[in-house]
Amino acid sequence: MPRRLGQHFLKGAGVGALLGVVDPARDEVFLEIGPGEGALTKPLAERAERVVAVELDGRLARRLRATAPANVEVVEGDALKEDLRSLVPPDGRLVGNLPYYVSSPLLRRILDLHDHVRDAHVMLQEEVARRIASPPGSREYGILSILYALWADVDLPLKLPPGAFRPPPRVSSALLRARFREEARAEVADLQAFEVFLKQAFARRRRTLENNLQDSYPNLKEYLRLLNLEGSRRAETLSVVEFVALWRALKAG
Ligand code: SAM
Repeated sequence: MPRRLGQHFLKGAGVGALLGVVDPARDEVFLEIGPGEGALTKPLAERAERVVAVELDGRLARRLRATAPANVEVVEGDALKEDLRSLVPPDGRLVGNLPYYVSSPLLRRILDLHDHVRDAHVMLQEEVARRIASPPGSREYGILSILYALWADVDLPLKLPPGAFRPPPRVSSALLRARFREEARAEVADLQAFEVFLKQAFARRRRTLENNLQDSYPNLKEYLRLLNLEGSRRAETLSVVEFVALWRALKAG
């Protein structure tokens, strides 16, 4: 069984559990990332209007195309490069048992669809899923947790042991559910610049906010005081709303 491309296929029980959470409806269009042999794709297609599935492995993509029902469109391509937005209409839904070796960049790409898909259900290595869903103050909290908190309500409704997959991965898995919000928790006009700021704030996790940011922002202390934020706090303790407030103040100042 090829382990390249993060190929760990879901067994029947896991498919049933995952679809129980997703609860597809007849009028919904799904974008699936990494359909593999179609374990999820085919039962999904039975319950939804249409499934568009992006698969990188040409052999698997061709085989799925030959065996899938007519309401499945298989796109042979890299989910990190395809224009995912153009593949499903607005208010579509996203699912995937993600290839774990590229889960972080894929999670970042999925976030770019926050105003296009209604929600995302993605199976991930449990450690990564927990990181995304973790609140401020925990050691797992980081840049992706903040960006997801900005646009989504996130939880982990399902955990699966290695034995739920064929072949079993070395780690446990969890389903991340991101329900995208009508409105962001805070307004970020220039996302790229905000991400650069977050990287600076988290540059050295064990250092204080002041230590990480003072070289880049000479007026930092003044704005921390104005916003009632202690400079001695670490980045991992700030909520997304606090981060956006600080960034906007620094940018304006
Ligand atoms: N959905 C199937 C299942 O649950 O049985 C397969 C899941 S498997 C964990 C991940 C799948 O993603 C594999 O079929 C793999 O070939 C595919 N894949 C890996 N990298 C990819 C990428 N960059 N873009 C699209 N698919 C990718």
